[in-house]
Amino acid sequence: MIRYVSTRGPGTPQSFTDVMLAGLAPDSGLYIPDMWPEIDRDLLSHLAGTPYTNVAMEIMTPFIGKAVPPDVLFKILQDTYEGGSFDHACVAPLVQVGPSAWIMELFHGPTLSFKDYALQFIGRLFDYLLEQKGQRLTIVGATSGDTGSAAIEACRNCKNIDIFILHPKGRTSEIQRRQMTTVEAPNVFNIAVEGTFDDCQTLVKTMLGDAKMRGDLNLSAINSINWARIMAQIVYYATAALALGAPHRPVSFAVPTGNFGNVYAGWCARRIGLPIDQLIVATNKNDILTRFFETGDMRMERVMPTLSPSMDIQISSNFERYLCDLMGRDYDGLKKLMHAFKVQKAFIMNPDSMQKAKREFTAQRCDDETTLQTMRECYLQSGIMIDPHTAVGLYGAMTKRDDPSVPVVALACAHPAKFPDAVEKAIGIRPPMPAVLDGLLGKAEHYIVLPNDLGKVQGYIRNEAKAIRR
Ligand SMILES: *Cc1c(COP(=O)(O)O)cnc(C)c1O
Repeated sequence: MIRYVSTRGPGTPQSFTDVMLAGLAPDSGLYIPDMWPEIDRDLLSHLAGTPYTNVAMEIMTPFIGKAVPPDVLFKILQDTYEGGSFDHACVAPLVQVGPSAWIMELFHGPTLSFKDYALQFIGRLFDYLLEQKGQRLTIVGATSGDTGSAAIEACRNCKNIDIFILHPKGRTSEIQRRQMTTVEAPNVFNIAVEGTFDDCQTLVKTMLGDAKMRGDLNLSAINSINWARIMAQIVYYATAALALGAPHRPVSFAVPTGNFGNVYAGWCARRIGLPIDQLIVATNKNDILTRFFETGDMRMERVMPTLSPSMDIQISSNFERYLCDLMGRDYDGLKKLMHAFKVQKAFIMNPDSMQKAKREFTAQRCDDETTLQTMRECYLQSGIMIDPHTAVGLYGAMTKRDDPSVPVVALACAHPAKFPDAVEKAIGIRPPMPAVLDGLLGKAEHYIVLPNDLGKVQGYIRNEAKAIRR
């Protein structure tokens, strides 16, 4: 049975339930499976053409093990993906945008970004596990825009959860902010931090690393630092690959990347046996990952605002998960590297590991001008409106695919209507508003503005959380 270890040292391996409820490991590392399952080819052949729920069941079962009885898991999956939260019968449909080139629409959930695909499932799973354990949980999360609303939407009806979402004040789009702040629920709290996304994420990580606060509030994370999110994201790589000929034919993916969660799920999909050829890491001008794959030098720079704000990130949390396997699970070596990155804001990867990394990922960057041009070309050539994040991925797909006979799938991570200004700038028309965004502009907003100050943020959360042991 699979158990989970921290990237900063294996310690005692943990169960799925424990890592799901904990989020971050106590040593501030991230949980990864202690071994990788292999899905066999016959099973993959049989899965081709089956509903999303069935593929999800097969992908997730080895990772979840006995933590959830199979019939319960299947019911949760059905409720998540077939119960009306997603507005497309395929859940994650493919749309062709060019010869052997596709986009996968990951915006059919309630908040119109790919984050819904994992979080809608996780909210339901959390509620089930907490009910079983008779516990109450305080979730803290940082968002660069889309995670927050998806997490809030996933938890607003959970009886046993209070959720606190930190967003960088003034650095998300208005629609993104309103999707979070207009939710009327007594267990939902929005904090606008006077800082960047990285500041928000550092605050969250520090609070999760604070044993006292963690214990007092039963704190957990719902960012992509939670393993269950990565696991749930593996599923759509599988459905897309199966639709395009897996296990008999390979397929490549191009993924707009910020925190390295989504593209890491693609790497996991390949690791468990899906025939994935290229994984193209697509960044905007905040290109720390692209520079790393080009040079082996991981070096933090200032975060610059772009048209694709959900990727305006310099510290990609999930990268640590990949590095752990890249370095052959040399936990001590990784710990040193992460320390160097924290203190010196930089590290250099050894040449042997870099050779391997370059075989596993291709990287591309895309500035705002090229983003707009890609949106324009896609609209002119195929009549499809894409959002700026999707454009960054599509540009990576078109410029970095090395075998035109292998289908390439660019992940459409958000609905164009979430970024109407950028769409208008690119193609001269505003995207039609989907029904779920109706009325957003007229609703009252609820949030508190706090400085980038750990004490202030902690104090607020301690005051408001209902799980607190006083
Ligand atoms: C979150 C997000 C990303 C970045 O995904 P990561 O998993 O953090 O790499 C890209 N595009 C959109 C639209 C997002 O919401």
